[in-house]
Amino acid sequence: MSTSHVNPVHPVAHSFQNRAEVECNDSCACFHCYARVAPTDIRLWKDSDDLNDEDSGALRDDAGPFRGMTATCPRCEYDSVIGSASGYELSDDFLHLLHNHWQITKHDT
Ligand SMILES: [Zn+2]
Repeated sequence: MSTSHVNPVHPVAHSFQNRAEVECNDSCACFHCYARVAPTDIRLWKDSDDLNDEDSGALRDDAGPFRGMTATCPRCEYDSVIGSASGYELSDDFLHLLHNHWQITKHDT
């Protein structure tokens, strides 16, 4: 499959609140630092959906009371992890496409 016609908005959305999807992947990749990671390597999560969590953007491991829903990369700790279960082939070209898109849209957050 050619990745040149993929609109990066859609796969980038798979990096947000993607816990259920990430945990059923064989492999994941980070489009910030291009690390290839196994789902079991992901220890830190953010964006818990618990209404009692007053700092849902904080990185958390599963030892705490709140369970984050967005995977963060074990190497760079950015929330830029996408899994193969998203339906996209995680080729280098594809990751570069997402990286460039993400730099533009998420730079200030
Ligand atoms: Zn990374």
